[in-house]
Amino acid sequence: MRTYFRPRANTGKIGWNITDPQGIRKRSWILVGVLALVFGLLGGRLWYLQVLNGSSYFAQAQRNSVRRVHLPAPRGLILDRNGKVLATSRAAHAVAVIPAALPSARKEPEMREKVLSTLGYLLKTSPKNIEEQIVEARKKGGNPYDPVRVTESVDLKTITLIEENKPRLGPAVLITDEITRRYPNGKFASHVLGYTGIVTERDMERSREAIKNDARARRLRFDDNIGKLGIEDFYDNQLAGTPGSALYEVDSLSQPIRHLDTVPEKPGNNIVLAIDSKLQEAAEKALSQASNSGAAVAIDVRNGEVLALASNPTYDPNVFSLSRRDPKRQSELRRLLEGNVPTARKQRYFYNRAVTSHYSPGSTYKMVTAAAALEKGVISAHSPSYLCTGGFRLGRTFGCDGVHGTQSLIGAMAKSCNVYFYQTSLRLGNPESTGPAYLAKISRQFGLGAPTHIDLPTDGKGLIPDPEWRKEINKTRPELAHWYPGNTLNMSIGQGDVLTTPLQMALATAAVANGGTLWKPHVMKEIRSEKNKVVQRAKPEGKSIGVSAQNLATIRRAMRSVVTSGTGRRAGLPHVNIAGKTGSAEDDNHGLPHAWWVCFAPYENPRIAIAVIVENSGHGSENAAPVAKKILEAAFPAPTAAEND
Ligand SMILES: [Zn+2]
Repeated sequence: MRTYFRPRANTGKIGWNITDPQGIRKRSWILVGVLALVFGLLGGRLWYLQVLNGSSYFAQAQRNSVRRVHLPAPRGLILDRNGKVLATSRAAHAVAVIPAALPSARKEPEMREKVLSTLGYLLKTSPKNIEEQIVEARKKGGNPYDPVRVTESVDLKTITLIEENKPRLGPAVLITDEITRRYPNGKFASHVLGYTGIVTERDMERSREAIKNDARARRLRFDDNIGKLGIEDFYDNQLAGTPGSALYEVDSLSQPIRHLDTVPEKPGNNIVLAIDSKLQEAAEKALSQASNSGAAVAIDVRNGEVLALASNPTYDPNVFSLSRRDPKRQSELRRLLEGNVPTARKQRYFYNRAVTSHYSPGSTYKMVTAAAALEKGVISAHSPSYLCTGGFRLGRTFGCDGVHGTQSLIGAMAKSCNVYFYQTSLRLGNPESTGPAYLAKISRQFGLGAPTHIDLPTDGKGLIPDPEWRKEINKTRPELAHWYPGNTLNMSIGQGDVLTTPLQMALATAAVANGGTLWKPHVMKEIRSEKNKVVQRAKPEGKSIGVSAQNLATIRRAMRSVVTSGTGRRAGLPHVNIAGKTGSAEDDNHGLPHAWWVCFAPYENPRIAIAVIVENSGHGSENAAPVAKKILEAAFPAPTAAEND
């Protein structure tokens, strides 16, 4: 038998570098040879296989047959900001069945059963399963002459088995080319990248809808791979490329006589991310060592670039490039999905906590309350002061984490004194109406309670409550519709109904750090053509949070005091000044509070803002701050001894 399969010499692995289109084309030729052998057995029966209708080849097609071979397009690369490859593609093989070439279910049911059970035996699957895949492909718009992939990413052993059994399998079974996605760094940045998978009927439907609205939208084939989750999904149109086809004239024995035409495949564009692998790696490593699930986001405060975005636990997207029949894939997916139930919160692997999870922000929200009070003119950095004796009575006692004595803004932020913020919130206006409405308004100016419009398929909104909202959601329960002063107190310390995502908190912190610009965050930095020409560059898009520069400077000072003399002392680094705010957010369902830490650095000339959450792990300073510290160490490496000299 002719050898058409060529393992990579240096690695011995199946497949080869996808950046070698000539190799792919050469292999297409070889593939044609194999196809010819296969079709030869069929004789005239496949005469009309994919005959080009109405083209200039029509006349030829009447004398001989013309055959079209699908040339899949290599998907674009995904790279980090320094050019490190995060996602690539490689050529592989699949076992496919041409439905029209199988013995007919009506006329030759026994023959058909024999072919399918032999194939099923070789691929360790059932004839029923193969029939189901044929039906599914048909439903997704495949025509009977399109090879239907039955098993993807097959290994050399399987290919050999299929070849050896050719006489029994007949002309309908063949080995085809395919291109699979590879994530060379395994789990790394998987929540940013997403993964690819074969289209579903729903994807096909959505694509038809998308084309109605936008003619440039990707036209899907029934067996295409498309992006699912992450950048793979969000930029699928850019990454996908356009498949090509090669046209051959074949004789009555299906031997190729000559090459007629090739419409070359067009590789997809490459996406260069703003992600800095050094920071991403630090974030992931620190999160994996934390006591529980969590997330971390680092933003460039000068332009809204997402430098790191990590969610823990995570998964290896390479599992989706394994064949659907592969037991390794099946057992890994079972493991990942069985943990994916609401009660086992800490094991939701596919959930991007950084972007989608809503948490009470706890005391990290005090920077927003401070901004509201400063803007309203009811406080300044040093006055008024309030006495904290460990709690505050308003109907019932609202607690504090300690007995803080007399504190003004700077000290109250440093020590995270709730009593100070309770008192302050009561001065924002009527605590049952205008006060909380004002706090909500300022919160929304910080981007809270609204989607961030990040370039990822999921984007949490969070919730900023106010008296109107409470009335609205309790229309049928008037006893719950009223906003009480106690609700204002809870809101002032980021509890009650306030919900935010880690990404929102990173952006709010960035706005404090950069003097008042709320950025629309973006993970993509540039889109480049296959030839490395910039096709599109992300433009920073920001809006003002409407808080004066002077008031933001006061908040930054207060956040600096958190690290120099307050609850965030552990977060400090010797060679770069950090400012931040701790938080612990009560979680009614799961024991210990969520630990929060938001920060920016350097204090004098901020470049990076970070938000970290570690679920149900207690205090922010002990559990979340160390994660940010690792990210900052990566961003601002300690000067070496030589540099100090
Ligand atoms: Zn206190």
